[in-house]
Amino acid sequence: MNQQMTSDMRQLLRRLPKAELHIHLEGAIRPGTAMELAAKNGVSLPVCDRVEDLYSYDNLMDFLAVYGAISDSIVTVDDFRRITYEMLQSAAESGCRYMEFFVSPHAHKGVPFARQFEGIRAGMAEAETDFLITSRIIPGMNRELGPEAGEDYLDEVLANRGEDVIGLGLDYNEAPFPPEPFVGVFARARREGLHLTAHAGESGPAAYIRGSLDALKVERIDHGYNIVDDPDLMVRCRDEGLVFTCCPSTTKYTTPWRDLTAPDHPIRRMKEAGLKVTINSDDPPMFATDLGWEFEIAHGDLGFSLADLKAAILTSLDAAWLDDTVKREWSADWAREIDEAFAAMPQP
Ligand SMILES: [Zn+2]
Repeated sequence: MNQQMTSDMRQLLRRLPKAELHIHLEGAIRPGTAMELAAKNGVSLPVCDRVEDLYSYDNLMDFLAVYGAISDSIVTVDDFRRITYEMLQSAAESGCRYMEFFVSPHAHKGVPFARQFEGIRAGMAEAETDFLITSRIIPGMNRELGPEAGEDYLDEVLANRGEDVIGLGLDYNEAPFPPEPFVGVFARARREGLHLTAHAGESGPAAYIRGSLDALKVERIDHGYNIVDDPDLMVRCRDEGLVFTCCPSTTKYTTPWRDLTAPDHPIRRMKEAGLKVTINSDDPPMFATDLGWEFEIAHGDLGFSLADLKAAILTSLDAAWLDDTVKREWSADWAREIDEAFAAMPQP
């Protein structure tokens, strides 16, 4: 892709300050780390000759199978500390200054939530000191387990809650698991002061986006690509200023849109329709990407101008679940920094 992009431009895009709102801790484990932790904890991973071949799949179901095996490999407090620290280190190398990341505590069978959160928090604190990256946790609920399990899950989340647990997400395989059955558990989470988001419209239909908004009252939509099938919903989301956390690389594997340069790629169409689109990395090592590369794709393949990239960055900060005063301050600083970086670019 984007063969013509100069290395100056690549470095510029990588250096821009960024906020990441859609990344999964268990999908952000370096393949070498996954191999080491699996061996240490006696878990067998799919057999492969080269470490990087661990992450190869062609659809969402294959991907979730590998994701499950990797999740089984993360057991001790230090395992959780290490994967959190490494995820934040990699993100910081892509210019990320602030991250809200999903965790899947139910995926680590038999590992108490408290142990998981202890390790995750240690990794967050170390990374903040070492890389000046601030982060917050969004536990993601596995929709495949159903709403009753969701209520138990929310109990666990609330029992282990700190100020760093800011929201609740809904993820895993979309169809045939529509959002509406989760109305009760999401209402309770909202009453408890958690922000809400849901994966919708990636492999599921546009109706799941509508259901997430109307029944679950989510504040953001993760992915959302199938909204292009529903022009009325597009108008509504544009008018309401709804923010979508899009992940360009993932679409090549988990949606029918395999060509990022195609004029009908949904992220391009969503942006052109005036929807608030942000650029995120989802499960970066598992899809051979990172946040800097996602910005290269957005610019080189998906038709995002530099002004569009600046808007996407400031939108993600605006949509972050941070204190408003902090957001205003960072937004002004980042806008200035981005303008200065663009002005310093050599003119072609
Ligand atoms: Zn995701």
